[in-house]
Amino acid sequence: MKSRTKLWVIMLVSAASSLVLFILLSIVVGSIWAKGYNLEKLNAISNETLNSIEKQGAFDKDNLQPLLDSVHSRNPDLRLEWIAPDGTVIYDTSGESERYDFKQLVDRMVNMPNNLWGADEPVTLVYSFPPSEQSYYLLLSLPSEAMQEGQYFFYVRTNKVIYTLILPFLLSALVPYLLSLWFFSSINRRIGKLNKALNQVNFRSDVIVLDDKSKDEIGQLTRHYNEMAHRIQSQAGQIKQFENRRKLLLSNLSHDLRTPLTIILGYAETIRIGAYKDENKLQAAAKIILQRSRYMDNLLDQLLDISRQEEDVLELHFSPHNLSEMMRKITADYLLILDGQGFTIEVDIPDKDVEIDMNEALIERAFRNLLDNAIRYGNDGHYLGIGLTDDEDEVYISVKDRGRGIAPEDQERIFERFYRVDGGRRGDGFGFGLSIVREIVESHHGSVHLSSDPHTETLFQVRLPKNQLDD
Ligand code: ADP
Repeated sequence: MKSRTKLWVIMLVSAASSLVLFILLSIVVGSIWAKGYNLEKLNAISNETLNSIEKQGAFDKDNLQPLLDSVHSRNPDLRLEWIAPDGTVIYDTSGESERYDFKQLVDRMVNMPNNLWGADEPVTLVYSFPPSEQSYYLLLSLPSEAMQEGQYFFYVRTNKVIYTLILPFLLSALVPYLLSLWFFSSINRRIGKLNKALNQVNFRSDVIVLDDKSKDEIGQLTRHYNEMAHRIQSQAGQIKQFENRRKLLLSNLSHDLRTPLTIILGYAETIRIGAYKDENKLQAAAKIILQRSRYMDNLLDQLLDISRQEEDVLELHFSPHNLSEMMRKITADYLLILDGQGFTIEVDIPDKDVEIDMNEALIERAFRNLLDNAIRYGNDGHYLGIGLTDDEDEVYISVKDRGRGIAPEDQERIFERFYRVDGGRRGDGFGFGLSIVREIVESHHGSVHLSSDPHTETLFQVRLPKNQLDD
């Protein structure tokens, strides 16, 4: 059953059952608590009395007295008077015996029905017998406190008045139900919209943005949904771009591998058929084959990194290592490589040991990636700066060059996978190096900061905490 239908059914059933409960409870509670006489009871007593009088033909005082006294003794609050057609009091259970005149009789009736609701005057009922011109009268009177409370229609004579109460009662009983029904249906409607919008969230189609400004929980939920939908949308965009770059990478890859392979095959074939008679030429060809093979090896290494990272095998084992020593060793390698290439190299690594918790192989990889980039992309500045500083808790590794730099709009994106500044059709990399640097550094709970002023200074600074909490 849909929750809207369920809501309607619950509302109607509860409205009907509360009405029935109200009526039943008022009857039960009324009958338990409402002590005293009511019209029905008084009529029954008078009928019973009149029947006995008629049966015994007891119209004179002697015969009447025991009869009325016995009724009085059973109902001590009641005063019974038997009056002759001429107004003479034949017998009065209170002992009076005067003759009634018309005024006296009417006075007994004055102030009815006010006397019913607690006035001091007694309540009087008059019955005639037999109901003909010359009737006797039975007067039944009792103090108003002896009446049952709420004898609403004692003197109204008709209980039709109850119908005039039904409509107001029904309305007043139904209004809260209708209001809650309205309230729940509006909640239901809003949840329904949310549900529909959530159902349509996917990477392909546009997300539905919901407009719900209210501050209640559903409003909050809607705002969270909107934020989530926007996030999903932007992530879907990123994934799409990422996919495009990946495709581009794959198509470039076959080209980048085939070109050196063609060269290698060419030179190898020439050597095989013995075309190089001269030892120097042979050496030159071997050198080219070696160079190109190394280049391919390098590409394949990077490819391996990519697939490894995709399988999430960046396993982490932190242990204390001497970072300054590791950096000095690597720097020495690069000094050799750059020797004779006209590079100015500034190294500022302290002589002291700088111990930090790290995965040595990964940090070395990140450091080498930064150095490779500075040499590869910043070589027009002919400068390489390497630095290490530390404070009590952290170390700062810096790699600087003075090359073409990185435009502000590219600075954040170069850390994305497969992102290359020039769209990178050709070259040695896949736009993967910096993404792996960032991943390694972040896995060590550190961060990478980049600032670039073309041909003045491009600085990559890695901040790492000295101590890792987890191992
Ligand atoms: P790649 O594998 O292409 O080297 P990286 O993630 O290492 O990928 O670098 C992404 C891009 O950032 C490079 O294509 C290059 O354009 C740019 N870049 C990286 N380092 C430097 C630098 N020191 N100077 C100028 N550009 C750089």
